[in-house]
Amino acid sequence: MPLSYVNPTSDSPWGTYLTQVDRVIPYLGPLARWVETLKRPKRTLIVDVPIEMDDGRIAHYEGYRVQHSLTRGPGKGGVRYHPDVTLEEVMALSAWMSIKNAAVNLPFGGAKGGIRVDPKQLSLNELEKLTRRYTSEIGIIIGPQQDIPAPDVNTDAQIMAWMMDTYSMNTGATATGVVTGKPIHLGGSLGRVKATGRGVFVTGREAARRIHLEIIGAKVAVQGFGNVGSSAAELFGQAGAIIVAAQDHTGSIFNARGFDLSLLVPHVKATGGVAGFAGAEAMDNESFWDVDCQIMIPAALENQITAARANRLKARLVLEGANGPTGSAADDILADRGILVVPDVICNAGGVTVSYFEWVQDFSSFFWTEDEINMRLDKIMVGALRKIWDTADQHQITLRTATFAVACERILAARQSRGLYP
Ligand code: NAD
Repeated sequence: MPLSYVNPTSDSPWGTYLTQVDRVIPYLGPLARWVETLKRPKRTLIVDVPIEMDDGRIAHYEGYRVQHSLTRGPGKGGVRYHPDVTLEEVMALSAWMSIKNAAVNLPFGGAKGGIRVDPKQLSLNELEKLTRRYTSEIGIIIGPQQDIPAPDVNTDAQIMAWMMDTYSMNTGATATGVVTGKPIHLGGSLGRVKATGRGVFVTGREAARRIHLEIIGAKVAVQGFGNVGSSAAELFGQAGAIIVAAQDHTGSIFNARGFDLSLLVPHVKATGGVAGFAGAEAMDNESFWDVDCQIMIPAALENQITAARANRLKARLVLEGANGPTGSAADDILADRGILVVPDVICNAGGVTVSYFEWVQDFSSFFWTEDEINMRLDKIMVGALRKIWDTADQHQITLRTATFAVACERILAARQSRGLYP
């Protein structure tokens, strides 16, 4: 029976995820018997988050924490603050975390959280109240051994510090391991901030090598110039690629000779977006998808590469920095056109991998150097991609279906060994 509390369509996030799971069933062998466990979240919590605003009004926000799977370990996944967040979106994001964590073989299940709010409309004081009340409300299901939140869109190290403090105050013990992505002076890990972008670069570098695409001189377009997009752009820039186009919520910019990232990154920090950058010309948002480039990095929100855009894309390689940026129909079009997609569930797994390092360091109270972290990250991502590539070659399937095959097999094998209770 389908779930009664969501109504997915073929292109909505949960609908996209269900299609991805269906595609993997033929490769699961006898484990396919357990596949329904992947099609429903283990636990779904919806909370009311009331706060008193600076002007005395009482405002209510809707918050979520979904634990899709706890089969292979504690839940793990970020918290998103965005006005368009819905339960269905958080469910899909939590499921993709299960797949991602299993694809990289981290000992975690999958979870995700969010609040339907535009945090840019809140004062710092209101943002802190919102975060603390939300943390208290979901405190009944999170914990260092239960479910470990992290930053996602519009949440950062400061918000993680408030979450950690609230949880610690409520439980009566300082629990640094309850969240990752914390400030370094509070048990955070070196290398965490840029880890997702670094993972995008590492998987992109390996994929480019396999399809004989030279990174030096390759033209790159990046959608989303936040944490993930800007870090990936910087690493590609350092490796000799030319970043020719960028788009964010403020607009789109283009420079055929490439941006000077040492000027663009501070411009975005100072003004809040790419629009108005002096070293580029403005372009309309739809034309961004027609840009002549070899590598396209969607690193903003879901469903950005639609079927229409997939038909026009010029790139040879798509690196999914964002979660769920390509709809199922668009995915098929890209595959038919021979455009290689490194899917989100492996491409952007660098962040959760260093989150795992942070969690391990917090438990052992022994902290590693940034070089050690980057080296271990590189090794894990390269190894995970190799296994996925072998699976894709073996069955002649896309990297996305191969990543799901590797991950679902690990989750369902664990499920089978644990059995059902009672
Ligand atoms: P962020 O808040 O730092 O940046 C988001 C970027 O998206 C900003 O540049 C913003 O302007 C842009 N954006 C927002 N709405 C847009 C729109 N309508 N059109 C174009 N651009 C738009 O967030 P982030 O942490 O960089 O996350 C970006 C994506 O990467 C999300 O899908 C997130 O789930 C995913 N992701 C993030 C991490 C992480 O560690 N931060 C890990 C894995 C996946």
